[in-house]
Amino acid sequence: MTVHASSLKLASLYLAILMSISLIFSITIYSISARELDRGIKRPAVSIINGPELELSQQLRNRFIQERIEAYEFAKDQIVAKLVLINIAILVAGGLLSYYLALRTLKPIEDAHAAQSRFAANASHELRTPITAMRSENEVALMDPNLTLKSARVQLQSNLEELEKLTNLSESLLRLAQLEEASVTYEPVNIADIIADGVTRLKQSAKLQKVLIDLPEKIQGQTHGDRAGLTEAFVTILDNAIKYTPIGGTVHISCHLREGNHDIAIVDNGPGIPNEQIPYIFDRFYRADNARSKQSHNGFGLGLAIAKGIIDAHNGAIFVASNEKGSTFTLSLPDLSS
Ligand code: ADP
Repeated sequence: MTVHASSLKLASLYLAILMSISLIFSITIYSISARELDRGIKRPAVSIINGPELELSQQLRNRFIQERIEAYEFAKDQIVAKLVLINIAILVAGGLLSYYLALRTLKPIEDAHAAQSRFAANASHELRTPITAMRSENEVALMDPNLTLKSARVQLQSNLEELEKLTNLSESLLRLAQLEEASVTYEPVNIADIIADGVTRLKQSAKLQKVLIDLPEKIQGQTHGDRAGLTEAFVTILDNAIKYTPIGGTVHISCHLREGNHDIAIVDNGPGIPNEQIPYIFDRFYRADNARSKQSHNGFGLGLAIAKGIIDAHNGAIFVASNEKGSTFTLSLPDLSS
């Protein structure tokens, strides 16, 4: 069903509820008013006119009674007309209001639906790209009657690279799905352990890139959560910092306790992220498509989305500050005592 059709359906439901309430009120008002009119106009007139106090001719009596009954009927008609008018006004205003409310109610669902479709489209595009590359390369190789063992090896090597991309992608997709379903197991985690585990995992890649990792002398404090998950988020950010830092550069790590949160800052002197792109870098499949992004860094744009998912699940936050001299990513994690 389209969003428009769903909005109309929901608006009709809202309107039906509103009109039912309005009709119940109208009927109640009408019956109370009719009873009061009956008591105030019709009945007293008849009893006075028929009473012993007034000595009136029958004709005058009849006229008097007739006038009072007409006044009574007129007043009742007026009430009915007013109630009908009020109900028409409620129908029109309520219809518009119901449609507006239905649109507002369905907006988050529509947004989630659009995000889901975008995600599925992006995921299938990313899955298709290496598969298409492998298929066409293999077809070309098979069509070559003079295919040598050497070029077959090159072909297999290329296939393996594409397969590695597919494996990385499926692992990232699986991780995103896990983040949506699984809840965090909370245990005390040393901030120093998160940093030490992360740095150990990326030591080799920093060495290859000739990037120095500058660590604080003393790291104190604890947060609560899942050590492996927190390390994974830290590794994603440190990995990016290393990858975007020019050869021979330095990545500085610092850690401070600020307002009940441990702020782990990872500072690189890479190309930076343009300000207008910062709000999107945590979106799934988002890759800054600027010349400043490192060409060799061919991720899927899922790393920061996963890192944010993990940190959010720990009631933390990731802050980014960037300019052309480099970027600072700050992981803010609640202190164990808070
Ligand atoms: P990927 O998995 O492709 O690396 P990420 O989600 O980790 O994607 O990052 C998204 C985008 O954010 C990257 O494409 C890159 O443009 C930008 N980015 C992330 N970290 C940095 C950094 N330290 N310096 C410059 N750009 C960065």
